[in-house]
Amino acid sequence: MARYYRGFNSHVPAYPGNQMTSETIKHNPYRSARYVISAHDLKQLPVDKGCEVAFAGRSNAGKSSAINTLTDQKSLARTSKTPGRTQQIVIFEIDPERRIADLPGYGYAKVPAKLKAHWRQVMQRYFNQRESLRGVVLVMDIRHPMREFDQQMIAWSASTGVPCHLLLTKSDKLKRGPAQATILQIRKSLPPSATIQIFSSRSRQGLTELIERLNQWYEFVSTG
Ligand code: GDP
Repeated sequence: MARYYRGFNSHVPAYPGNQMTSETIKHNPYRSARYVISAHDLKQLPVDKGCEVAFAGRSNAGKSSAINTLTDQKSLARTSKTPGRTQQIVIFEIDPERRIADLPGYGYAKVPAKLKAHWRQVMQRYFNQRESLRGVVLVMDIRHPMREFDQQMIAWSASTGVPCHLLLTKSDKLKRGPAQATILQIRKSLPPSATIQIFSSRSRQGLTELIERLNQWYEFVSTG
């Protein structure tokens, strides 16, 4: 049985019933995010309480830029990385009850096969065991979506009941027509627990939609 909305202890209105508007950006609660720890292993993660949302994506997809845009901080998540540095789960705290987990970027050709296999296992355990995990934002370059590991992430999220939100970023690189066609095409193959949107860190297109999705997962109520 899927554990959708695992751990929620109060009634959460169906999205987008929270009645949030573009005013949301003004009240963006993610601006308060601050770095906590880079964990090499699940044991180093903060206590498994409250709400955690994970950001996942292939290396170079635009995940760090998306986190920086969301938190309105230029370099909270690093945007230039070496393969070694990416093999960590980086935790940012929004408040004592809410965290962002920046999962290791995958797909680096230079990472040895053994290390890749290790991280695949760590990720699988993270999905299966992390009780506070409320959702996964899966970041993809809109020009190169749904690669092998993206599909693996979607499959894990479907099998564990953790909702997955696909963030098709770098939308400024595509015209509106092809961007919409890509969304429609991908939507057809998604499980019911997955949602999808267009995003750009450069133009901030889609920022409101992302904030509203996260507000729901983190159970922030509308201030407007
Ligand atoms: P990560 O490896 O997934 O964390 O990717 P980064 O955030 O480091 O971005 C990889 C590259 O894509 C960098 O050169 C970014 O400047 C660029 N990039 C990221 N997001 C966007 C976007 O929305 N639009 C454009 N045009 N470039 C982007």
